[in-house]
Amino acid sequence: MVPAYRLAMRPEDLLTPTPAGLFCPPGGFHIDPTRPVARALITHGHADHARAGHGAVLATPETLKIMAARYGEGFAARTEIAKLGETMTIGGGRVTFHPAGHVLGSAQIAVEANGLRIVTSGDYKRRADPTCRPFVPVPCDIFISEATFGLPVFRHPPAEAEIAKLIASLDQFPERAHLVGAYSLGKAQRVIRMLRDAGYDRTVYLHGAMETLCRLYEAEGISLGVLAPATLKSGAKGDFTGAVVVCPPSEITERWARRFPEPMACFASGWMRIRQRAKQAGVELPLVISDHADWVELTETIAEIAPAEVWVTHGREEALVRWCELNGVAARPLHMVGYEEDEGA
Ligand SMILES: [Zn+2]
Ligand SMILES: [Zn+2]
Repeated sequence: MVPAYRLAMRPEDLLTPTPAGLFCPPGGFHIDPTRPVARALITHGHADHARAGHGAVLATPETLKIMAARYGEGFAARTEIAKLGETMTIGGGRVTFHPAGHVLGSAQIAVEANGLRIVTSGDYKRRADPTCRPFVPVPCDIFISEATFGLPVFRHPPAEAEIAKLIASLDQFPERAHLVGAYSLGKAQRVIRMLRDAGYDRTVYLHGAMETLCRLYEAEGISLGVLAPATLKSGAKGDFTGAVVVCPPSEITERWARRFPEPMACFASGWMRIRQRAKQAGVELPLVISDHADWVELTETIAEIAPAEVWVTHGREEALVRWCELNGVAARPLHMVGYEEDEGA
């Protein structure tokens, strides 16, 4: 028997995977397109979702500011603000942005026509994050879920406990500079804000790649305490004794890091759950802090929303599809390309 929601409209006629990304034929727009398109709806500012060069971009005000900071003001021919929870009509479709809890400004996008609603999660998480609005579950016929950490092995510990580990290490090794590798959009600011919430009030030093987005977060009302650039005067190693230096993950074991006193390589990422991966990356203090849903969050979210169908995109698709089928939810992988292992992982 054909389910009722299938009679309204074929889901593929409302949102369909194309080489450029998800496309909505009645609305004439793409969501998070991977190549330049006429009209793009963007879930959040990470580089694999938000690219420069589209004709028009519709996104939350924060995402538009992040894109302007990263690509320059001319990143699109035209921009339009999406207000969370407000429905807009685009061609023959209706569109509503809802918070996704991933990074500042991140949104899920609900697309509706002829009684059918598809929600694309973008990247999301369910854990508390003092730097962005929490995820809102939106009832829908089809839920398009990310699957970055879509394997049962991925269970993120409480982020507060990981921050406590960092603080304990700072106490235990007061002579060592702690170089905390963190993605420049979202993770860096979350780690700094959580350090503040845990009572850490010393200056936090920033690699140059972190500064613009930290300032942007502060301008959006997320206070990060005293920050200073991690610029080194030659022979001034002592300035960073026992300091926290936040930098891109790629820098923690590079030459840049060795200029700090007895640098300790720390990395805040969901991937740090895999000990081998931490070891290979030369990470001495792995901090399992992720801006993506872990296995429990992914499966509990699907159970909570209870959609008729789940489409799984970027990440470990097969395990989540299998879980859906075992739990009586129709599911399929979208096999979308162009979404890297997210810079927010
Ligand atoms: Zn992301
Ligand atoms: Zn992503």
